[in-house]
Amino acid sequence: MNKPTIIFDMDGTLLDLAYDDFIWNTLLPIRYAEIHQCTLEESKKVLFTFYQEHNHTLNWYSSKFWTSKVGIDVLNMQLEYKHKVSLRKGCLELLKFLKNNNYNIWLATNADKAGLSFKLQEMNLASYFDVIVSSEEIGHAKEFIEFWQILQQKHPFDPKNCYFIDDTEKVLNGAKKFGIEHLISIQQPSSDTAPRLTFSYPMLETLTDLISYLKHTEEPKKYA
Ligand SMILES: [Mg+2]
Repeated sequence: MNKPTIIFDMDGTLLDLAYDDFIWNTLLPIRYAEIHQCTLEESKKVLFTFYQEHNHTLNWYSSKFWTSKVGIDVLNMQLEYKHKVSLRKGCLELLKFLKNNNYNIWLATNADKAGLSFKLQEMNLASYFDVIVSSEEIGHAKEFIEFWQILQQKHPFDPKNCYFIDDTEKVLNGAKKFGIEHLISIQQPSSDTAPRLTFSYPMLETLTDLISYLKHTEEPKKYA
């Protein structure tokens, strides 16, 4: 059997979700209130209603969509604070381990192409991955089986010999429907939010926990 394909999500998995929480839950409400001359409370109310309407759709992940919806250039706003993007603990150590041990390392994100590009550049991560894909180019969010079907057509892989690590339950559910064998989540996607106590998928406390997980599940196969 070949080495498994390890597919990572980006935000909340390899990168600290605190950045995105800051952009969308703190900064955008302030900017929206300034531009639309309303109180911060009103601004949050309007924005959080928008968020609920579009959560888990491709729109939700699109800077272009939000720019036209709220009248603020949200890509520029993210770039303005790009120094706040940061890696989750153990990220580089894990990626180096996987690369040195010849695993296929993929990145599959719902971030749009512009968001993906500046974050990878800022964190200098691109060279670790054999495949990098944004749901914007696939045309479906990862929550939907279509994303996985099209990904497999573009970049063939065996879902039975695959690990997928993502912090979002609905995304993991989509991957499960497609048939990905090993589904793993993250205990604390944002350093600003308390760790989860329970979750419907096994959780990594630190990213490097995946190394012992792999040792446990992959090594017996060599002797089978
Ligand atoms: Mg995520």
